[in-house]
Amino acid sequence: MPLLDFEFTHHALHFPQLRLWFDAHRKQGPGQLVVVSHAHSDHTARHAEVVLSAPTQKLMAARLGGKRQEHVLAFGERVALTEPRFGVPRDAHLTLWPAGHILGSAMAKLEAEGRSLLYTGDFKLRAGFSSEICQPVRADILVMETTFGRPRYVFPPAAEVIAGLIQFCRDCLARKEVPVLLGYSLGKAQELLVALGGAGLPLMGHDSMARMTEIYVEFGRAIPAVRPWDPTAAAECVVLAPPGAALEALRKHQTIRLAVVTGWALDAGCRYRYRSDAAFPLSDHADYPELLEFVRQVAPERIYTLHGFAGEFATQLRRLGYDARALTEVDQFELALDEPTE
Ligand SMILES: [Zn+2]
Repeated sequence: MPLLDFEFTHHALHFPQLRLWFDAHRKQGPGQLVVVSHAHSDHTARHAEVVLSAPTQKLMAARLGGKRQEHVLAFGERVALTEPRFGVPRDAHLTLWPAGHILGSAMAKLEAEGRSLLYTGDFKLRAGFSSEICQPVRADILVMETTFGRPRYVFPPAAEVIAGLIQFCRDCLARKEVPVLLGYSLGKAQELLVALGGAGLPLMGHDSMARMTEIYVEFGRAIPAVRPWDPTAAAECVVLAPPGAALEALRKHQTIRLAVVTGWALDAGCRYRYRSDAAFPLSDHADYPELLEFVRQVAPERIYTLHGFAGEFATQLRRLGYDARALTEVDQFELALDEPTE
């Protein structure tokens, strides 16, 4: 059985012969090595032993707490898994490459028996303001996320979206209303802080994003100053909060206007779904053209798709002549109600 053969189980890749997992959702105990692509909660668990990038180590520790055996790899550092520290019994090499999704997000390239497999985790090709730049590499087998794997998902240029966001904020402030931008506290929040800080808007951040933002600063990101969460003092500020944050105290003291910031803003019903007044399509994921471009750059013999429109995207790839199959099928209900990291 080839060493790169994997099982797809509980939304994770498992290489049984290597005792290796990519993004296991279920906690793995000692003797199982888990590569954590990035620190979003749907990609992590309290594993005993992990391989990750330095920023992911910090972000994961801040979010999960606890102790674990950590193997921090630099991007582009190719390691033999037979090294005693990993304890993998069979000959294979692992390299992490920047995925461009959030700070520290990594793709994992696994090489064994003269073949290679690239697992993307979440990624985007466009340069963000606060993540590393995605670095696609060649591989024989590609396992990729396809969250926005449908032709209708083409994001407008980020500069255009941000100009619209800034206008939304200025219009609110001119009416003595407090604009509240809803974005995930890890990744989206920091993108927004950089984008809006440049416009000279005074910013206030929800408590949940403070520690995450500190870690971005520790890794050299120029994040503008953010006022600590204080609903009584939010007048004349642009407020950033994660979707689902309790905003009652803020509503008590201010008239607020909500804008959700997500790739799903391209869907007509998005702002109703998030009960917001406006929606802006700024995403940490690849859009459809980027997914296709990524496949071209990796030039794999075989492709496996997962997350979002995995089935549709695999069908499209087969039409283009690729050997592609979906590991997950789209679940519209799930997409509509539960996209915690977008
Ligand atoms: Zn993510």
